[in-house]
Amino acid sequence: MFSKVLIANRGEISLRIIRTCKEMGIATVAVHTTVDQDAMHVRMADEAICIGTPRSPGNKESYLSFSAIISACEITGSNALHPGYGFLSENAEFVEQLEDHEITFIGPSSKHIKLMGDKITAKEKMLELGVPCVPGPNESIETVDRALSVASDIGYPVIVKASAGGGGRGMKVVNSQADMEAAYLAAQQEAGASFGNDEVYLEKFLPHGRHIEIQVLGDGMGNAVHFGERDCTIQRRHQKLLEEAPSPLLDGKKRSHIGEICAEAIAEMGYEGVGTIEFLYQDGEFYFIEMNTRLQVEHPVTEAIFGIDLVKQQINVAAGNPLELKQGDLVPRGHSIEVRINAETVPDFIPCPGKVGLYHSPGGLGIRMDSFLYNGYTVPQNYDSLIGKLISHGETRTIAIAKLKRALEELIVHPISTTAPLFQLLLEDRDFLDSNYDIHWLEKWIQQNGKLLKNQ
Ligand code: ADP
Repeated sequence: MFSKVLIANRGEISLRIIRTCKEMGIATVAVHTTVDQDAMHVRMADEAICIGTPRSPGNKESYLSFSAIISACEITGSNALHPGYGFLSENAEFVEQLEDHEITFIGPSSKHIKLMGDKITAKEKMLELGVPCVPGPNESIETVDRALSVASDIGYPVIVKASAGGGGRGMKVVNSQADMEAAYLAAQQEAGASFGNDEVYLEKFLPHGRHIEIQVLGDGMGNAVHFGERDCTIQRRHQKLLEEAPSPLLDGKKRSHIGEICAEAIAEMGYEGVGTIEFLYQDGEFYFIEMNTRLQVEHPVTEAIFGIDLVKQQINVAAGNPLELKQGDLVPRGHSIEVRINAETVPDFIPCPGKVGLYHSPGGLGIRMDSFLYNGYTVPQNYDSLIGKLISHGETRTIAIAKLKRALEELIVHPISTTAPLFQLLLEDRDFLDSNYDIHWLEKWIQQNGKLLKNQ
């Protein structure tokens, strides 16, 4: 087992990883920038090391700097690195450099990150492994003419997507032939600007999909399990805001069927670590869209219903141990919902960083709050606006919702505006309660409820 793990991240996910390391008797090292010197992850880790000034656009400093982070590992004698999510968690080149420095990356091999990081090769591989995919050719679309001919084959509406895409960028829906040229060029331009790679591809646009993803874990030795699904359909601008497990739409048979396909695919690939295979689910069918080769923000809902620490599992397999879990022993219990507490105004979602005068975290049976806030902490403007994740777990969906509503009432983050009021209203909504929505529903709901949200 590792003696010391460096966590190449910040915020709530750093704390999440430090907690498990402590429980496993592993020493931890935090990295931080000058604006993060008073951050909770710095206080909670056994050691901390400053890796520079905050990130400025287009500048690969601090949390994104290979050399700063690898030096921090060497200076502190860390023999393993946990990347969390975001930052360098899906950067194959970084993982190759760690391999060269004999620092174990707690995650998959650079080969698998590369394969899944390109959505065209990912789709190709998944099709080969028997995973159902969104209709569309797995090829780079290099001209508007080619885009027009592919679209007429698969039928409008279609979506142009960046093959290096992430965070919902570089995607354009095309409803008819007349809109193709503008959409194609816009997607290509956005992809180039966001990912330094303007390659795009085309697939069928599914207008009423639900976002359902399967959590998998493999040990790189051909053993793999799945932990069922998470339903992340409640999204705004392709960004998840509320996630739950299980999905209210699936029964045990459907769950096992898709779960087994995913676990078998992972086993066949020799994949090591946790991963998420994302699907759109429409009219009773699954369509693969992408695989994330890292821990997800929403992993706690899976942990809640399976009673399993996914970070501990990641560390175990990264240390070279075979999978200690058997599929037959993984039985979900109850229902869990996570809401993302962002430092943003509603309904406009304008970032709202600043000093937290008073913070009170909710608690009680079936409530988990993963946050790095404390009284007097200043949320910096330099980073993501996620300041906490509030997770409930109850015997049924109705009970999980009741617990979450009660916990949201307890939460105080004064005087910062947060997304909490949005969830207070959403959790009362009839369509939400009936699970009657698709991936586009929340944006319309926000528009319709703008006034009410402002007054919350
Ligand atoms: P990213 O890597 O940028 O997150 P994804 O491929 O995971 O991109 O897609 C993000 C979101 O975009 C999905 O959850 C869904 O809302 C929407 N989307 C992606 N592909 C399609 C599609 N073929 N049809 C309809 N919506 C899509």
